[in-house]
Amino acid sequence: MDPIPSPERESLILLLAPAGRDAKLVDELFHGARLQSQVCLTVEELCRDIERGAGAVFVAEEALDSLAIESLAAVLNKQGSWSDLPVVVLTVAGEPTEAAQERLTRLQSLGDLTLLERPLRTDTIVSAARAALRARAKQYQVRRRDAELQLVTDNVPVLISYIDRDQVYRRVNHTYFEWFGVRPEQVVGSTIQSTVGEPHYTQAQPYITRVLQGERVHFESQLRDKRRELRDVSVSYAPDSSSDGSVRGFVALVQDITDRKKAERALMESERQFRSLADTFPNLAWMAYADGHVFWYNQRWYDYTGSAPETLEGWGWRSVLDPEELPKVMERWNDSIRTGDLFEMVFPLRGANSMFRLFLTRIVPLRDSSGAVTRWFGTSTDIDEQKRAEEALRQANRDLEEFAYVATHDLQEPLRMVNIYSQLLLKRVGADPGSQLREYADYVRTGVKRMETLIRDLLDYSRITHGVGPPLPFRADLEAALRQALASVEARVRENQAEVTSAPLPAVAGDEAQLAHVFQNLLSNALKYRKPGETPRIHICAERQDAHWVVSVQDNGIGFDQDQAERIFGLFKRLHRHEEYPGTGLGLAICKHIVERHRGRVWARSQAGVGSTFFVSLPVAPHE
Ligand code: ADP
Repeated sequence: MDPIPSPERESLILLLAPAGRDAKLVDELFHGARLQSQVCLTVEELCRDIERGAGAVFVAEEALDSLAIESLAAVLNKQGSWSDLPVVVLTVAGEPTEAAQERLTRLQSLGDLTLLERPLRTDTIVSAARAALRARAKQYQVRRRDAELQLVTDNVPVLISYIDRDQVYRRVNHTYFEWFGVRPEQVVGSTIQSTVGEPHYTQAQPYITRVLQGERVHFESQLRDKRRELRDVSVSYAPDSSSDGSVRGFVALVQDITDRKKAERALMESERQFRSLADTFPNLAWMAYADGHVFWYNQRWYDYTGSAPETLEGWGWRSVLDPEELPKVMERWNDSIRTGDLFEMVFPLRGANSMFRLFLTRIVPLRDSSGAVTRWFGTSTDIDEQKRAEEALRQANRDLEEFAYVATHDLQEPLRMVNIYSQLLLKRVGADPGSQLREYADYVRTGVKRMETLIRDLLDYSRITHGVGPPLPFRADLEAALRQALASVEARVRENQAEVTSAPLPAVAGDEAQLAHVFQNLLSNALKYRKPGETPRIHICAERQDAHWVVSVQDNGIGFDQDQAERIFGLFKRLHRHEEYPGTGLGLAICKHIVERHRGRVWARSQAGVGSTFFVSLPVAPHE
């Protein structure tokens, strides 16, 4: 498209008169009327100046010989379709000759020609000049609007074109060049079919028919680009209708949507994969919009509830809930929808066989990059079996503990009797240490003693594990607990000349008497499993680790293999023979039970022949 000249040239009048005096006179006249003008000395100069842009041309007829007319005709013919340069001819006075008439007729055929007959009044010239410039200004305005429109359409990544009734391109934007690799001028004038090729034209044809009937249409299709690559496009046609309803042509917008389509296909594929995966879930699963409206359930949902998709869509799932539980569930679910918090709750769901089973339902929010909830993803896991098994196990444990407690308690009585009578028996036999009777009686005594400790330990264990027990106190002073434990092993400490040292101990959350029991068990073991011929050294200290205190009891005894460090906390688990180191294998099991009740942990580190350290971690007392 021809360039837009500078604003000064838009209102510039070009003058050509062979007699320099005439030109000068008119020039001065225009100057006086505040009109811009410029004198051209030759026709060639005039033509060059017209090409640079002009508001109007004034020519003296004398300057227009046939050659000049042809040069002028050539320039005027080159004008853009928007341009119709006003040309004013100052004719020679009197009747024109035939040749002159012919020349003027030729000029008239080229455009906007005005003849001013000499002699001229000056105001006639000025008003003719003003009229010419006004007409010219309108043309430039149209030209500028057109250029602006072109600039806009050229800079959108969409193919924009105007197509006439005969399916011929009348106007296209620059994007056509990028797409087809041909200049817009080459596209203008050619038909749609020859430009877009197959398969696009076949797909577009029915829509072209419809838009030419005055309908706005939209469709998706495929179009080859300059690399012959088939790309997905979205096409819109808008009719250009006349006031009488007839359609002159239409505007076509074609947008490349290949990337979007690819993303859509990838999304659909991943969604399909997700759904088929979700359908193989053993859990019931579903998805809801941010407002809680459920739009998808997996196959398991339909299978378990026996309900049809239509009845469950949205809030239909409420029909499979126990009506008594429903208000509670709704309240919690509405809370989550409002706050965006995770939902977790156990409640029964009715199956296709009308029986309720217990499910754990978890609903997690899926959020967008701004953190807003876009979807909810829910799963319900059948925990009916598990709950039943847990309850049965709890009951069995309770029964067993009850039984152990009662049994050990009731065993004490007959044992006491055996104890008394075996002592009486020993007294009778007493005098003769070598007799066989004495030997048998000794066996009975040892057996009874062993039985006594076993029953005592078992009773301890039963007492600690029996029932849930009262809630633990908030504070237990470990110093006091240790003192209590040391008092009970004092005789053995002295007897073995053991060295017991301790660092200051803190207070923890828990029961002092029970923790004293733990210390007592650990100290007894440290004394019992001492190394022969070596002074037993025992050290107790504590170290803070976050919200816990880790108390350690270290000895220099016989130790054991680190591999066994977990086993020894089991019931009746012993690493040493009873003949060498008597015991029941219950002490550490009791310790473990007490510590776990305190929400703590107990473990050991040891090396055979070097010594052992037992660690107990306990929660710090509140406000410490
Ligand atoms: P018991 O001492 O009555 O056998 P425990 O439950 O107290 O039962 O201990 C279990 C086993 O752990 C013991 O039989 C012993 O083999 C080992 N053990 C416990 N404490 C120590 C220790 N301080 N040094 C070496 N071995 C130990």
